[in-house]
Amino acid sequence: MRNPSFDQMAERNLALTVGCPDCGVGPQARCGYRDFRGDWHLVENFPAHLRRIRDAKEARA
Ligand SMILES: [Zn+2]
Repeated sequence: MRNPSFDQMAERNLALTVGCPDCGVGPQARCGYRDFRGDWHLVENFPAHLRRIRDAKEARA
């Protein structure tokens, strides 16, 4: 994200405490995706995959 809001930064930091069920990265690694050439890119338009954010919130609760 180029200009993340405070909430987005907080969600990203929270998401980093767990692994991602969508893209398969481990804790502390940013979410990403592969493009059609197989190159890895970090997600920029949202803090992390939604299931990861949900999992992190449940793990914290
Ligand atoms: Zn992910």
